Amino acid sequence: MGIEIEKIRGLFPVLHQEVHGKPLIYFDNAATTQKPQAVLDALTNYYEKDNSNIHRGAHALADRATRYFEEARETIQHFINARESAEVIFTKGTTESINLVASTFGRKFIEKGDEIIISTLEHHSNIVPWQMLCEEKGAILKIIPINDAGEILFDEFEKLLSAKTKLVSIVHASNALGTINPVKKVIAAAHAVGAKVLLDGAQSTSHLTIDVQDLDCDFMAFSAHKLYGPTGLGVLYGKREVLESMPPYQGGGEMIKEVTFEKTTYNEIPFKFEAGTPNIGDVIAFKAAIDFINQIGKETIKAHEDELLSYASEQLSQIKGFFPVGTAAEKVSVLSFNINAMHPYDVGMMLDANGIAVRTGHHCTQPLMKRLGLEGTVRASFSVYNSKSEIEKLAEGVSRIARIKNK
Ligand code: PMP
Repeated sequence: MGIEIEKIRGLFPVLHQEVHGKPLIYFDNAATTQKPQAVLDALTNYYEKDNSNIHRGAHALADRATRYFEEARETIQHFINARESAEVIFTKGTTESINLVASTFGRKFIEKGDEIIISTLEHHSNIVPWQMLCEEKGAILKIIPINDAGEILFDEFEKLLSAKTKLVSIVHASNALGTINPVKKVIAAAHAVGAKVLLDGAQSTSHLTIDVQDLDCDFMAFSAHKLYGPTGLGVLYGKREVLESMPPYQGGGEMIKEVTFEKTTYNEIPFKFEAGTPNIGDVIAFKAAIDFINQIGKETIKAHEDELLSYASEQLSQIKGFFPVGTAAEKVSVLSFNINAMHPYDVGMMLDANGIAVRTGHHCTQPLMKRLGLEGTVRASFSVYNSKSEIEKLAEGVSRIARIKNK
């Protein structure tokens, strides 16, 4: 069964407003998705009824909060098909998850002369932590090149692999272009030389069915706010044996087994990596977001988003002066484009005047933009609550803007 669009839209209060006197059309979903009422309710319910610190409390509220928090971890475990909930670590987001791996796995296992491979498609948060680590350790960062469509060159990747490769950290789906990387092949090839693999799942988790066991990745990082959940919360998935081999991230409460002034022993995973009071309310609300996705079904969501993407590509490509950026064969519902001789920011501002929210600029992928010879793009990214009629409005808006320029 397809998406019942009006019913779904009814679940998202924020969508029902006017911007500059026009009904809001929200096409900035790759930056962050809107939140359904169930997520907002879970958050208020928690603070109204259950607010308490978790794991050590000897009272009813603490028990309840702990139960809901750990149930959320299990929901996420099933969402990505991890073997066990202990492999799900809560962080502040994709960025912190990647930094956690860089500073713990990196601290212990990366040495002078070792190599880390990333791709040209990476978000800054999957570039900078590795540059910092390489600088500290005297390791070397290698970059997988791409073709003009925005696809990684797999043969070139294979040439970069060697016994020196300790880690491959690659985006599953590009936020700037939408490209879905052939990560299963990447992981198998990396494992063949003994390297571990981290997937940046910030964009893929919202569009694709994720099975970390089938992919066989060693780590996956993602953010709740791109999955209809709260901001400032994310997950690091890691294989048990890899997580156990790593030193802790931050020191503090919760991550210890026993502390004496002479020596501290560390807690089991996942707690070893979760120092301090976690973001309890948001974790509980994140469960509501995953439940929302599961109720509709990932396959149904993907089919809807794919349809929106091809409709948008078809509508916009008829406009004189429009050119798409990133034309990979496999894409999530991200349409990056430019209009001849127009600055993306100007296009974004003009669309905003029509109530249409898009993102413009380099999308935190400056090296990718440089490779493509662009300053930036206009990016429309589609989600479960977007409709074909909204895309028609986008096409009308872009067409009007392109006409001004073509005059
Ligand atoms: N990687 C990718 C591909 C992203 O799209 C984003 C968010 N734009 C991030 C990493 C960083 O996510 P966060 O800001 O939630 O940590």
